[in-house]
Amino acid sequence: MSRARRIVADPAGPDPDQLAPAAAALRAGALVAFPTETVYGLGANALDPDAVARIFHAKGRPADNPVIVHAPDAATAWRVTTGPTPLAERLAARFWPGPLTLVLDAAPEMPRAATAGLDSVAVRVPAHPVALALLRAAGVPVAAPSANRSGRPSPTTADHVLAELGDAIAIVVDGGPCAVGLESTVVDARGERPVILRDGAVTREAIAAVAEPLAGGTGAAPADLAASPGTRHRHYAPACRVLVAPPDGAVALARELATSAAPGSIGIVSRFPAPAGVREIGRFRDAADLAPRLFALLRSAEAAGVATLVVEGVPEDGIGRAVMDRLRRAGAG
Ligand code: AMP
Ligand code: MG
Repeated sequence: MSRARRIVADPAGPDPDQLAPAAAALRAGALVAFPTETVYGLGANALDPDAVARIFHAKGRPADNPVIVHAPDAATAWRVTTGPTPLAERLAARFWPGPLTLVLDAAPEMPRAATAGLDSVAVRVPAHPVALALLRAAGVPVAAPSANRSGRPSPTTADHVLAELGDAIAIVVDGGPCAVGLESTVVDARGERPVILRDGAVTREAIAAVAEPLAGGTGAAPADLAASPGTRHRHYAPACRVLVAPPDGAVALARELATSAAPGSIGIVSRFPAPAGVREIGRFRDAADLAPRLFALLRSAEAAGVATLVVEGVPEDGIGRAVMDRLRRAGAG
């Protein structure tokens, strides 16, 4: 298979002419990876079942895990649904463009390839000038999960995408590193109150300022798992073992592991300097500082060849909830 073509776009103000080949490729049913403010997406025309099937094939994504449909504005997003609920309109008015995904009833004419057979569909308007320009130029809704092989950390640079999917896609639009670095928050907005199906870049606290979420949330109850199939699957895992340590416990854990491990095989991501014999993969100040770099650090750890990465946990409020969700799942299994 041939290597993907890289189109470099100015993240602040992309040139529409430059994006024209990527838009044409999307309309023709090809796979185009592109930057969003959260992570890089692997895009395909959501109205073309064969194109959407190519996403699942390229990623090795389980067929029961639906993908998010991206649109350049709310009016276009609503077209793949039966129409917004009052709750969806309020959330969209507050958070779009931005890292919030809304689950609504799917329009009857919406192919079920992107929804994994469900009668609901997840939609989002991303807050990235390159993504918006591409979506406008494509003129079709674009199904786009994260542009990584299923189960791996999400990509936050075009190089991450090329390393993993370079042989499987037509084009990667390179708009530099993603500013948010964690995926969108997924909210079921079909009822009167939001149900958070996946914690993400829009915090629970921010959503509560618009409408108090129902109890539950990511993976909390079987009903939620059924509603958001993707939260069931293995995710975000690099090639090394990931151990999540309690705040203040990471340095001691890494030091102890290093006493009985091969030299250089233990790595750490923490607020504190690495102890002797442990490789410092990254340092952070707080959850907000860690969030945009988390996935890149997981990739750095595997590139450094460590066998075990100890990551210091963060308090579970605000963006810390999404960080801990991703870390736990990176470490599970
Ligand atoms: P990804 O695009 O890989 O970041 O994953 C998309 C997330 O949105 C997964 O957790 C999916 O399960 C979830 N999702 C997508 N469509 C739906 C839907 N119709 N209902 C519930 N969750 C959905
Ligand atoms: Mg993903």
